[in-house]
This record gives sequence, C-alpha cells and structure tokens, in this order.
Amino acid sequence: MATPSVAATLWGMTLRDANIDRLRSGLFDVLVIGAGINGAVSSAALAGRGASVAMVDRGDFGSFTSQESSNLVWGGFKYLEHYELPLVFGLCRSRNRLMKAYPDNIKEISFLAALDRNAPFPPWFAAIGAVAYWMIGLFGTKPPKLYDVERVKSEEPVIETSGLRGGVQYQDAYLIDNDSRFVFSFVRSAIEAGACVANYVELVAAERVDDRWVARLRNLDSGEEFTTSARTIVNAGGPFVDEINSDWGLRTEHRIVYSKGIHLVVPRLTTNRHDRVLAFFDDTQRLFYVIPMGRRSVIGTTDTRVDTPFTAVDTDDRRFLLDQINARLDLDSPLTVDDVIAERSGVRPLVVKRDGDDRKHVDWTSLSRKHEIERDDDLNVVTIFGGKLTDCLNVGEEVAREIERLGIPLEKDLANWYGEPAGATRAEFFRQAKLMKLDRLRVKPETEPLSDRLWRRYGRRAFDLLEAIRADPTMGEDIMGSADYLRAELHNAAEHEMIVKLDDFMRRRSKIDLVVADDDIRNSPGLHEVAEILFGAEADRRLTEYFAEKPRIA
Ligand SMILES: Cc1cc2nc3c(=O)[nH]c(=O)nc-3n(C[C@H](O)[C@H](O)[C@H](O)COP(=O)(O)OP(=O)(O)OC[C@H]3O[C@@H](n4cnc5c(N)ncnc54)[C@H](O)[C@@H]3O)c2cc1C
Repeated sequence: MATPSVAATLWGMTLRDANIDRLRSGLFDVLVIGAGINGAVSSAALAGRGASVAMVDRGDFGSFTSQESSNLVWGGFKYLEHYELPLVFGLCRSRNRLMKAYPDNIKEISFLAALDRNAPFPPWFAAIGAVAYWMIGLFGTKPPKLYDVERVKSEEPVIETSGLRGGVQYQDAYLIDNDSRFVFSFVRSAIEAGACVANYVELVAAERVDDRWVARLRNLDSGEEFTTSARTIVNAGGPFVDEINSDWGLRTEHRIVYSKGIHLVVPRLTTNRHDRVLAFFDDTQRLFYVIPMGRRSVIGTTDTRVDTPFTAVDTDDRRFLLDQINARLDLDSPLTVDDVIAERSGVRPLVVKRDGDDRKHVDWTSLSRKHEIERDDDLNVVTIFGGKLTDCLNVGEEVAREIERLGIPLEKDLANWYGEPAGATRAEFFRQAKLMKLDRLRVKPETEPLSDRLWRRYGRRAFDLLEAIRADPTMGEDIMGSADYLRAELHNAAEHEMIVKLDDFMRRRSKIDLVVADDDIRNSPGLHEVAEILFGAEADRRLTEYFAEKPRIA
C-alpha cells in the first residue's frame, strides 16, 4: 500500500488551507468571484502582471459551465449563417492564437460535415462558406475540401450515405484533454504568479466600506465564515453574474439569458485512423457533432432556451440525440441508453441588452455568442458577460485593461501568463524522458506514449514526475487499470492541484469520469489507493461522498 501523500501538505497544511489563511483578513488589489474559464483567465492575467489577486469559487475550479463544453476551440463556422463576420473573425484569431500558444494541448482537427436532405444548403454552397471561413481565419489551418458521396464513405465508413448529397471538410481545433483541465492550467498559472485562490469558498455578501470591498466568504468544506478585502472586484460568475451584481445593487447595461446544451459520451464511433469531428444537421436544421475524446465519442450538442442555470440531461434530450445520430450513422446496431457512458449538461450564458426584449429573437439560436465586459467606476466592479473558452485570452486582456482603468497599476503585458513552456524546455523534457526510457513503462499499447501524455498534462511540472519515477520506479506504475494514470501523477495532483473532493480529480483534473463506465470505476483495484494518495486518512469518507454524489444515467 502506498504511503498516504503527506506531500499533499505544506508544512502540515494543504495549499488550499494556506490560501484560506491568506484570504482571511487579507487586502487584495482584485477579488475574482468565480473560477470558470473567465475567472481563471482573469486571475492569471492580473497576477501575471503584478496585481495581488484573490479568487474564490463555491464549487471546484471549472466545475460549472466550463466543464460542460464541446471542448472545441473554434471560430464558429456556423455563426456565418447569421452573418456574424466580426465575431467569427475574432474567434478565428483567438483560435489561431491558442493553437500557437498550446501546441500540445490544442490541436487542429478536421470537421467532416455530411450534408443530407435535411441540410439547409447543398454541398457546393457549404464549400464556398468553408473557403470564406478559411480566409476569415487568415489561412491559419489546412484548406477545406469538397467531397462527393463516395469520398465521404471512404473517408468515414460509419456515415450513412443513403440520402447524402455530399460533404465538406473544414478545419478547426480542439482540446485534447478536458475543458476543466484547461481552466485549471490558468488557475495554476495564477497560483504560480502569487494569486491566492480557493475552491469551495462562496461569496456570501460584499459591501463597499470606504475605498474597498469587504467580502464575507464561506468555506463550504468546513462551514467556517470569514472576511477578506479588496480594492476591486471582478464578477466572473458566469450564469450567476446578474444575481451577484443585484446583491450589491449594481445595474448593468447587459444581462444573461440561458441556452441549455447537452452531450452524450459513448464508445468510439468513428474509425481510429485519425481524430476527426463529424458534423450533421439535425431534423431542426441545427448542426450537431460527433467529437473524439480518446477512446470515446461525444455526441452533441443541443440548444434549448431555459430559465434556470441548473440543468440535467432528461429523457427527451437523450432520446433526441440518440435518434438523430442513429439516423445518420451506419452502425451494426443502433445506439441505446445502455451505450451512454457519461452525460454532460450546461447552459451557455448568452448576453443580451438589459433594456432589449430577447423575445424578439424568434430564432433563439441566432443570439450572439460574443462576450461583453462592463466596468462600474462608482463601485469598482468589472463584470464579464458570456464568452467562450476559445476567446479566453482576449477576456484576460480586456479584464486587465478595465482593472487598470480602475486605478490598479499593472506591469507591462509580456504575454507570459499563458501558453506552454518554450520549445527548448520541451526538447529537454523529451530528451530526459528518452534517456530514462519512459515510454517503455507504458502497459497499454493502444494509448499514447507516456512522454507525450506527461508533457501535455503537466508542462514544466513533468520534470518533477521524471525525477519521482527515477527515484522510485513504483511511481511509474499504472495505478487504475481502467484509466491512464501513473502513481507519480496522483502524488503530483495531491500536492499541486488543490483537490478537495474525489470528483475534482475524477471529473476535472482528469476525465476518468467521462470516459470510464461507472462499474469499471467501482471495480477498479487502484481506486482506493487513489483516494489514499489524495486524502490520506479521509480516503474512505471521500470515496463514500463521491459515489453518493455521482450522477446516474436514468
Ligand atoms: C453545451 C455547451 C457547449 C459549449 N461548447 C463550447 C466550445 O466547444 N468551445 C467554446 O469555446 N465554448 C463553448 N461553450 C461556452 C463556454 O463553455 C462558456 O461560455 C464558458 O465556460 C463560461 O465560463 P464562465 O467562466 O463565464 O462560467 P462558469 O464556468 O459557469 O464559471 C462561473 C463560476 O462562478 C462560480 N460562482 C457563481 N456564484 C458564486 C459565488 N457567489 N461565490 C463563488 N463562486 C461563485 C460558479 O461556481 C462557477 O464555477 C459551451 C457551453 C455550453 C453550455
């Protein structure tokens, strides 16, 4: 049995405990509320430019909307349908920038759009759109291609071609790991720049006292309440921004409405030759996708207007997506609920003018996906409305600009608060990994080389993992038969990834919960050791809590 990771503690305290201590009665330049992509990127940008930053989230980092996305980094080909040229241009630029900054985490991927009689356009017209999209994207990807029916079938035999008119292949990008792991990379960057961040800490109330905010916070893991102070606040509450602003009487020009989207994770549907997204128009002429996630495929998404941010996949959603995909794929037997390994459901926070009437949007899906950032000079608050993972670097930069305008001086932006380490550091990692024959430790031949995996997941920290494996070869062992994790990775997670609940690791720092069936997780021989490394004496309690809270597919 492995020694419980007392490494998880820093002089007897976890990193989270130490941060909560710093929050208590601290005075910060900026308090960021919410640690989804928008809060995390704002903290990274501000701390990276010298501001003293605190960030809290009442859940885990990236545990609300930012864990429910399609994992796509894209310019939004489909937004061309609504002639949103500036939005598409901006998102394509953001996509290109992210692909450049994260070459191992964000990869270009082909989208094969199969156009049948339900499609609103013939293939030749879609191909013109794809060329325009490629040009708007400043040729940042490979060029698009027009395919006839035979070529579509040979490219992807799983596509049902009866009734097909042809296909178009265009390019975008995707996150190889998880959206919430990407969010965590910004949290980590903020921590490394000195930010004081804590998950499971809720903003209960805040009031302006003289020249600062005094915020009452609650540690949801212990129930303890305490206060902290800050000169300014960034409201990055995602679907909750309006609720938070109204609590302190802030009236904004914009507000949020919600659009629900779901995904179903099923065994891999496409050929394993290469990763590719399949795109189809559903019966309502809306695009939906089959997106690769390792050895799985993710089907989605939907776009339904709802009045609450709290959603779940219901029977109708599930039935709809399964019917749509079964009608468009040539499978040995149709997919059923029994094939669903995991589900995701979330709301897109969409921005509308407060005084506008959103009912005038007869076509709900035409509501713009652009973000807005508002600054209130009286209350010293910056609010982020909407936004996409794809646009995160712009959000970080824009928030930093607004905070400067509120009188918080920032250092020059050297663009060093985001991105993977430099090429020379990468080369050195792969050199060291090769010298110690790291890839030979891989026990599952169908998985990617360990050196690729460790570098992508941990960047600079991957050197520590090499050192741990060199010092103790058992650290290089696979810990959970059903998932791809080395023992050393768990010790690293315990020490550096602020894991409070087992779900934080299973669903967000890793994507085990999304790609491994429930029964396989339950029966995994290494699961107890995983909990011991992460939680020491608390392992059993955290395991019980995890299974009690784990959503079931009805
Ligand atoms: C189905 C779907 C698919 C999508 N696909 C894509 C995609 O492929 N590509 C893309 O770029 N974008 C995509 N998006 C959009 C993107 O996921 C979201 O716009 C983005 O994640 C929103 O991030 P956020 O930080 O604003 O909100 P959130 O991630 O919801 O973060 C807000 C945080 O605030 C916290 N909070 C709220 N109130 C308090 C409080 N009082 N105290 C403390 N914390 C609080 C919450 O706990 C939450 O974690 C998709 C969205 C959906 C729903």
